[in-house]
Amino acid sequence: MIKYPNSAFEALRGRGLTSQRSRDRMVNAIAEHPAMDSRVLQAMRIIPRHFFMEEALSASAYENTALPIGEGQTISQPQVVARMSSELLRSCSMKKVLELGTGSGYQTSILGLLCEEVYTIERIERLQRTAKERLTHLEYRNISYKIGDGHQGWPEQAGFDGIIVTAAAREIPQELCEQMNIGGCLLIPVGETEQLLMKVIRTEDGFDISELANVSFVPLVKT
Ligand code: SAH
Repeated sequence: MIKYPNSAFEALRGRGLTSQRSRDRMVNAIAEHPAMDSRVLQAMRIIPRHFFMEEALSASAYENTALPIGEGQTISQPQVVARMSSELLRSCSMKKVLELGTGSGYQTSILGLLCEEVYTIERIERLQRTAKERLTHLEYRNISYKIGDGHQGWPEQAGFDGIIVTAAAREIPQELCEQMNIGGCLLIPVGETEQLLMKVIRTEDGFDISELANVSFVPLVKT
């Protein structure tokens, strides 16, 4: 975990529409939903979301919407990021967590504050390179990066407590389930035009699957 505040975060506090007041206003609106965890909300108050997108869009950074990050991809809606992070925190240990779909790196930056170790996979090299530069600038040292198809997970690092998928799969990939520890939790949006956020918990004798909410994500592309 990183020490906050460090000077890199301080330098990115922003002003006007990117100021602490704007961040607080966004988080206060999200906090009205009962499923949100206070540690996640605190992380979102600290992290400069405007740093994870092109400067031209920064005036919209603290609106509760997904925004384009290039390559036809989006930085996820803050409310959904908060919901998924809260659910993960509540459901499993946060020692070793895998994220599929690094994208802008914003969700990664939240996990980096809450987890001991974060592993993140992205299929588009350019996006992950930029995300890594941002996270390195913010002095995160507990994040490992990989380019590839997340459907396969990260077998060499298997033994995850949590897995969070930030793109929509057609079905729950068995490989991901198998890479979790007992007690581990997988959160994954499933479906094509209409998607459901699903939660899979690995138990001693199998997997418990439940449905959490309707969501909207870009597709998890199979390569
Ligand atoms: N968490 C990101 C969300 C980015 S959108 C953020 O908040 O910015 C989803 C990302 O998943 C995109 O960057 C997309 O390129 C990536 N993606 C899609 N299919 C993938 C796959 N099979 N493996 C890894 N990443 C994938």
